[in-house]
Amino acid sequence: MTIQCCVCRKVEMDGKWAVTDESVASGVSHTYCPVCLQRALSEFKDELGKPLPRLTGIPVRA
Ligand SMILES: [Zn+2]
Repeated sequence: MTIQCCVCRKVEMDGKWAVTDESVASGVSHTYCPVCLQRALSEFKDELGKPLPRLTGIPVRA
């Protein structure tokens, strides 16, 4: 199973992430490489840092 970063298209080979010109065969699993994972996590944290919209409009029946 080939593991490819879905962001930068690097492929994991022998524990290292490298750009490849080879066409990736079928059965590729898309994930994040460590670099893109950190970037995604930091963006995710930024999203979490925003004030959440208040949950309104939920009908409450007495
Ligand atoms: Zn990547």
